Amino acid sequence: MFLCSCENCQRTSGGGHSSVALFRTDAVRVVGATKSYARPAKSGATFIRHFCPECGTTVLAHSSRAPALRIVPVGVFAGENTWFKPNQLIFSRTHQTWDLIADHLPWHETYRRDDRA
Ligand SMILES: [Zn+2]
Repeated sequence: MFLCSCENCQRTSGGGHSSVALFRTDAVRVVGATKSYARPAKSGATFIRHFCPECGTTVLAHSSRAPALRIVPVGVFAGENTWFKPNQLIFSRTHQTWDLIADHLPWHETYRRDDRA
């Protein structure tokens, strides 16, 4: 669970960051039609966002770099998302000072460095 201040998330959320949770792809089932939009990410990956064709709400997204994961905006669970506990801010390099972020969260310029490597 994390916050992302990349410019794409700023555009799609209409705010300073997105609030998202990662789920295993096989743990997510979408019922009903979606439309999708694919864009190349600066990393070279393709980032695909799926949204409701009627109201435009983003339902989930995924990256070609991580096919086993789905990125779900926690706003999809509005009214039932008190479980959301973000643990970091990514893409802080494009964070805007007017967007308040909880003091205890670690900030990462882009993605969190993988310490397991
Ligand atoms: Zn982002």
